[in-house]
Amino acid sequence: MTDSGALVRPDRRAELAAGLARVQARITDACAAAGRDRGEVTMIAVTKTYPASDVVALAGLGVTDVGENRDQEAAAKATQVAAAGVTPRWHFVGRLQRNKVKSVLRYADVVQSVDSVRLASALAAAATSSGRDRPLDVLVQVSIDADAARGGAVPDSADPDVGLGPVADSVAAAGGLRLAGLMAVAPLGWEPERAFARLAGIAAALRVDHPQAVALSAGMSGDLEAAIAHGATHVRVGSALLGMRPTLG
Ligand SMILES: *Cc1c(COP(=O)(O)O)cnc(C)c1O
Repeated sequence: MTDSGALVRPDRRAELAAGLARVQARITDACAAAGRDRGEVTMIAVTKTYPASDVVALAGLGVTDVGENRDQEAAAKATQVAAAGVTPRWHFVGRLQRNKVKSVLRYADVVQSVDSVRLASALAAAATSSGRDRPLDVLVQVSIDADAARGGAVPDSADPDVGLGPVADSVAAAGGLRLAGLMAVAPLGWEPERAFARLAGIAAALRVDHPQAVALSAGMSGDLEAAIAHGATHVRVGSALLGMRPTLG
């Protein structure tokens, strides 16, 4: 073994298996409660702060989709995971600076956090020049409470850079990108029910202009049931699966 970074300890594997079983049961129950087919919801394991070995273990347990929110950490982890012969679908879910798009394109299959026309343009330019054989899947991150300061394109705004319409149109029109849908985080202090009900309305309105944009990435460890009740197709689960993260400094 040359790559000890991806070596999976049996006790950790058992812990992850237990976490995964609990989360899968929650998703199954939430789908049943919402009258939805279980196959409509994909779980993304958000592995930020956790090592490559956890990604390898989760893949061994059947997890197909992994999320990361910082380029530097994700790039190193994706390299280690690939060296272990494992190829999950990588979702970039964090705030993305334009000077990082080239790096993110080397490992990401999906970028979920595009929230400005300028970022979409930078990503499109990098995707086109990277020589990928298929377009990059993009979700536009939307601000449910229209507070642009916390990230997310703003619904019902004609702002030419951060209005949801202009951002979605720019992704849809860009070579090298495919507009797959929306991503959102419930705003602090909002009931998840209220947040995701509003998100469902925003997503339905977007699909009038962009019928292919059917993905809805919403719901995390604390609120995945409410997100599934309101149509989430992807839930992004970190702590409920992997354990509590140390607080980042
Ligand atoms: C960390 C993170 C998650 C997972 O959060 P948990 O509460 O640990 O499940 C989901 N989405 C994004 C964008 C994140 O940064």
